[in-house]
Amino acid sequence: MHPCSQRKHFTGRLRRHFLISQKKMSSSRKRSKVKDAEQKSKKHKVTPHYGLHNQGATCYLNSVLQVLSMTTEIHDRLEPRAQITDQELKNIFKKLKETTCKTENITQSLGIENVLQQRDAAECLELILNKISPLASEAFRGHLTYTTRCSSGHVINKETNPFWTLPLSLKDSHDSTFSVESGLEKFFRPKSFNGANMVYCSECEEKTEAESGCDMGTCPQILTLLLKRFDVINMTQTDRTVEVPRALEREGRRYDLYGMVNHMGSLRGGHYTAVILPSEDHTWYEFDDTRVNKVEEQPFAETETYSSSTAYLLVYRASGSPRDEVKEPEVDDRRDTITVEERHEKKVTMNGDVSVTSNSSRQPLDGGVEVAMLEKGCKKESENPQPRCKMHPLWIALIVVLGVLFVVLVVALPLVL
Ligand SMILES: [Zn+2]
Repeated sequence: MHPCSQRKHFTGRLRRHFLISQKKMSSSRKRSKVKDAEQKSKKHKVTPHYGLHNQGATCYLNSVLQVLSMTTEIHDRLEPRAQITDQELKNIFKKLKETTCKTENITQSLGIENVLQQRDAAECLELILNKISPLASEAFRGHLTYTTRCSSGHVINKETNPFWTLPLSLKDSHDSTFSVESGLEKFFRPKSFNGANMVYCSECEEKTEAESGCDMGTCPQILTLLLKRFDVINMTQTDRTVEVPRALEREGRRYDLYGMVNHMGSLRGGHYTAVILPSEDHTWYEFDDTRVNKVEEQPFAETETYSSSTAYLLVYRASGSPRDEVKEPEVDDRRDTITVEERHEKKVTMNGDVSVTSNSSRQPLDGGVEVAMLEKGCKKESENPQPRCKMHPLWIALIVVLGVLFVVLVVALPLVL
């Protein structure tokens, strides 16, 4: 080899080595720059919380997930080995402490296929609560007991049903603003049946005036109120201002607000965000998909109520006596919680039968497929009770007599003979 070409070869090798070293240095510089940027971003991160990526129109899911991630009562009760949704929730709650997360695994586990379609946040919450293990969802489960009594005090009808959310109608008063406390009081106010609406009482053996009352048989640890902003029948919605109380008193328990899911925009679309007070600090944050910011004007900073024209779900946490001390009621017909709204609008007809007036106030879903899917996820307990085997006492006596005869004929008679 010519010395020049050898030199050239050597120079070429050196140059390649130099270029490779430079490339390595430049990529390591780039990596360290990215690291620096990440560290700087973490250092200068305004909030200690992270957001969720929107897959298209999944802001309803993001808002509900953020509320659930701040509901620590369910975290330790998730059963990842039993339910895939429990597993995915556990994963995302853990990751959310460190970074912004994607929700593809969650939508998959919930059976949500069309992520470009807006859905109702309340139904999404119920879907999740129906999918996860009962132990985990227990914190959200309450029971409503409906009792109808005639004017003589006879119980005409009594049933207890579980619920996830209590729906409050925003149409029930003509005031310019809607008071949540008044709405809740009206929800539990007894209804009278008289005149043409009198009810047949089997003990009085005639139609009689009656009163139907509703009580919270079991107070949930987490009480969720649904503000009925949507009128699906007339395809309208209301942005009526709601006075949200910081705390509620119900059945001797105090409930403190820690989460709000807001809806802005049109009936069929719009956008959801969540405003949450994490238990570890005293600051309200707004979770808007990937963006998380401190709420500029902190709710309840100066007053005990907060005015909102977008609040849709209000999530309260019970303080005081633990749930274990609350006696579970006997449930007559543990129908799915999704029908609480319908059940509350029950009318007892003239002959004492019960009819249901359906007046959904939730955001409509395009097509019945999704509704069916949501309802499919619901648990219906004791709808088809197992038939109980009861034997008549005469049959039992006959079997005993035949048994004695058998013993006499087969055992005692040969001995005598
Ligand atoms: Zn009666």
